[in-house]
Amino acid sequence: MSDCIFCKIANGEIPSEIVYQDELITVFKDASPMAPVHVLMVPKVHISSMDELTEEDSSLISHMMLKIKHIAKILELDNGYRVVINCGEDGQQTVKHLHIHILGKRKMIWPPG
Ligand code: 5GP
Ligand code: ZN
Repeated sequence: MSDCIFCKIANGEIPSEIVYQDELITVFKDASPMAPVHVLMVPKVHISSMDELTEEDSSLISHMMLKIKHIAKILELDNGYRVVINCGEDGQQTVKHLHIHILGKRKMIWPPG
């Protein structure tokens, strides 16, 4: 999508600190980190939120989920990490391109506010 910031990051139009990418996904550092390590994993195709996923995205979403432990290794999150997906208004999703937050290197609070 032409005016989507995460599409632009995923296709390299806007620079970011990329920690991993392959043919399906890009993982980059969050611009306003909420933890010492905070990265965002996005699909290269535009999907606006969890709510927009369909059966056709099964292999993509499976790829994303299975890559998380690989990203955690790259980022040396040996003591654990948190994975977050915000969706819609109440979920406080601010960027309307599906993204998975991966946070680590501090103890996470539960429940989140
Ligand atoms: P959400 O609240 O939608 O789940 O998360 C959006 C995240 O994207 C936020 O943590 C925010 O800091 C991050 N973000 C927003 N714009 C940019 C940007 O232009 N570059 C990077 N690297 N992160 C961004
Ligand atoms: Zn997009």
